[in-house]
Amino acid sequence: MSSFQEYLDTWNTNNIVKAIHSVNIMEKKIIYMDHAATTYTAKEVVNAMLPYFSDEFGNPSSVYSIGQSNKKAIDNARTQVAKAINAKPEEIYFTSGGTESDNWALKGVAFANERKGKHIITTSIEHHAILHSCQWLASKGFEITYLPVDKYGMISPESVEKAIRPDTILISVMYANNEVGTIEPIAEIGKIAKAHGIYFHTDAVQAVGHIPIDVVADNIDLLSLSGHKFYGPKGTGALYIKKGTRIQNFIHGGAQESKRRAGTENVPGIVGLGVAIERAIAKMPEETQRLIQLRDKLTRELLKIPATHLNGHPTKRLPNNTNIIFEYIEGESILLFLNMKGICASTGSACNSASLEPSHVLTAMGVSHEIAHGSIRLTVGERTNEEDAKFVITSLTETVKKLRAMSPLTPKELR
Ligand SMILES: *Cc1c(COP(=O)(O)O)cnc(C)c1O
Repeated sequence: MSSFQEYLDTWNTNNIVKAIHSVNIMEKKIIYMDHAATTYTAKEVVNAMLPYFSDEFGNPSSVYSIGQSNKKAIDNARTQVAKAINAKPEEIYFTSGGTESDNWALKGVAFANERKGKHIITTSIEHHAILHSCQWLASKGFEITYLPVDKYGMISPESVEKAIRPDTILISVMYANNEVGTIEPIAEIGKIAKAHGIYFHTDAVQAVGHIPIDVVADNIDLLSLSGHKFYGPKGTGALYIKKGTRIQNFIHGGAQESKRRAGTENVPGIVGLGVAIERAIAKMPEETQRLIQLRDKLTRELLKIPATHLNGHPTKRLPNNTNIIFEYIEGESILLFLNMKGICASTGSACNSASLEPSHVLTAMGVSHEIAHGSIRLTVGERTNEEDAKFVITSLTETVKKLRAMSPLTPKELR
């Protein structure tokens, strides 16, 4: 906290240079453990984007050279994204992010195939971009089956197969869950979808750039990805649409993106997305091992605190994600205490500000309401080191002790 006081003091002396310096000091003290929410944009990604804001500003649809050089930059990024998931460049459509890709996939496939049927299979643990799109589709006459998960947040491929009906047109199952990190059996589900001739979409926003993905091997027809989850810029993303997939357009206007997604391209963003995905794939083998060690250290040490539980699958989980329940206390209070120590984390139980409902993911996993409120998600990233992990372990251990001493729910032996 003293650095915040220093920061205020520098403003009092009205010394801008000092103030900027002090902000830098503050930034260095921040321990960011919320990489599943968003990541910073990597320096080399920003540098690759910069020319396209100023010198290379032409419209890619224009015939003159500064327009055409932009078109080339977009084509290059399309190849980079395609390579990362083993797709063909012409199967990649740039969007404004994961949310748009999810909306397009669901609504586009639903309305293009409604004559075959109006039944869609998804899961109860999807991101709201999927769940709320499904709710909207239900209001338009589509029927949605929400598959349950086991206590680890895992979908069983058998349950997918059992849910299939003659009028099923789409199966949408997320690649990895954003709250608890569980990696779903995508290849098995892809096989089932293919055998039944049903389109298979996966929201892979948490997985792309973090674990290897192969849309051909996994029989995926549509896949959503988002730049800001792997050190690319916010507001960028893509939808992979396998060649031949029947899907309606979602954004209408000009002829961009092979006449399928209108609007002048976000060229700097698309360039950034391409560089970011290539960079993430190149770093993956080494970085994954490092992140797993940090993740496991956090999990191991935090589970030494009594009355704690790990959320999500113990091994089949994202390399950067741990999610732990601390019984008898509130996740929100833990976050406030951590914030005072400069630690950025998130609750697994992201409450809708309107209601006090616990996380739909934890609820679907069978976690009781009382203890679901005490969960914290820590997601590590490129700048996270051993020291950060140690600091978070010490801080959380202290915080939990303090909060439990204050909580009327805490049993005597834990005070
Ligand atoms: C972040 C996220 C999204 C939304 O992506 P945006 O690019 O932020 O719109 C969708 N699905 C999952 C699983 C996510 O983690």
